[in-house]
Amino acid sequence: MSNNGGMIPDAAVEAAVAAWAKWPEGISPQEQMVTILEAAAPHLMAEATRLIRDLTDSEDCNFDHHGGCQAHGYLDLKIGDMCPQHEAKAWAE
Ligand SMILES: [Zn+2]
Repeated sequence: MSNNGGMIPDAAVEAAVAAWAKWPEGISPQEQMVTILEAAAPHLMAEATRLIRDLTDSEDCNFDHHGGCQAHGYLDLKIGDMCPQHEAKAWAE
């Protein structure tokens, strides 16, 4: 979680600062940015995955004959469409 008042988890900030603090001389701004993003991204993804897991309904999808998911209220889905709740569960696994 973030203690800095924003949406960026503290672990992501700490990883980015650690990456920034130890890069070699002559590294380009693009390489610097990639280094920071690569350091922070796993922490951001972990936080997003936790939130998605928390928001995911444990109930299984229940599709009607039009393709809508009755269990989760996605009634506009067409036959063969994926319910966002199913997609969220797959993401968070
Ligand atoms: Zn569903």
